[in-house]
Amino acid sequence: MSEPTRESRFTPRVFSGIKPSGGLTLGNYLGAIKRFVQTQDEGSFETIYCVVDLHAITVWQDPAELRAATREVAAGFLASGIDPERSILFNQSQVSQHAELGWIFNCVARVGWMDRMTQFKEKAGRNAEKQSLGLYAYPSLMAADILLYHATHVPVGEDQKQHVELTRDIAAKFNHDFGVDFFPLTHPVIEGPAMRVMNLRDGTKKMSKSGESDMERINMTDDADLIAKKLQKARTDPAPLPETVEGLEGRPEAKNLVDIYAALADLSPAEVLAQYPGAGWGRFKPALAELAVEKLSPISAEMKRLTADPAEIDRLLARGAERARAIAQPILQRTYDIVGLVRA
Ligand code: ATP
Ligand code: MG
Repeated sequence: MSEPTRESRFTPRVFSGIKPSGGLTLGNYLGAIKRFVQTQDEGSFETIYCVVDLHAITVWQDPAELRAATREVAAGFLASGIDPERSILFNQSQVSQHAELGWIFNCVARVGWMDRMTQFKEKAGRNAEKQSLGLYAYPSLMAADILLYHATHVPVGEDQKQHVELTRDIAAKFNHDFGVDFFPLTHPVIEGPAMRVMNLRDGTKKMSKSGESDMERINMTDDADLIAKKLQKARTDPAPLPETVEGLEGRPEAKNLVDIYAALADLSPAEVLAQYPGAGWGRFKPALAELAVEKLSPISAEMKRLTADPAEIDRLLARGAERARAIAQPILQRTYDIVGLVRA
């Protein structure tokens, strides 16, 4: 990630979260976790990473599965290289200030703004009336997650860009309405190939943990055989790989597999095509499977080890929550003062 701009009076600070709404996917890894680790390791930012369980319950979650997924997402962060000392890692519901600031922002954000959120439209489909009010309001809780820490940068996949822009709108309206310069205008950070990993069965839809079929995604815990099988069955057009990136236009499935290869290998898509000029799928798909297994299997082995000791994960999350609270509480109190809420 690029260096923070120094003119800002805010501490360069990153916040980002992942919902425990299922097991982690390759999309979460390439679009989020891998970059979270890089940002932590570069050391130019304070890094705060959160398992956003309050967002997960905007759709029905079985309580036992929610608990397991919360620990699995935490294990995914840790196994990928998030260091709970250098970063703050916790689950959202343990820091009640998120929900409190979320309410204030429900009163700042406008209904018309929420109506423009494409992700709600995608998730709700034709059943908008039957969705929870929480799913509709979720971007304002997400704004609270970010602004509760005065985070200056948010690394996210391309699918979350609109929500980070809404966060800026909420910060600007709050600052304007109360005549303060209190909340920063946070920057979304979306860089590199595969910032939107697509569904393996339909290259026009993104890969999601909560997608219908397991065959449409690669899970971080899938074993080598399953990864190979899913990639073998991944939809493609019959043409071989093109020689240039322009040749991927209008071929969403082919572009997706090349982008995934590029992101896993830390190459550009053009470099991948140069390595496999005119290759057919019979050659490229097994090569991609081998690369994916090579990158994911050490992480999934470590995740397995970590999730075998849930008490240790819970201890780390509680400790992270304590550190998060120490930043969040003064910012929430100052917000209450600005709004005019009386406190002792
Ligand atoms: P859900 O289906 O429940 O929304 P999800 O897979 O979309 O799950 P989120 O918890 O919503 O995961 O998102 C966590 C992070 O992963 C966000 O930064 C998001 O941008 C990123 N992300 C999710 N899916 C992808 C994807 N297909 N490609 C790239 N980044 C992604
Ligand atoms: Mg999502």
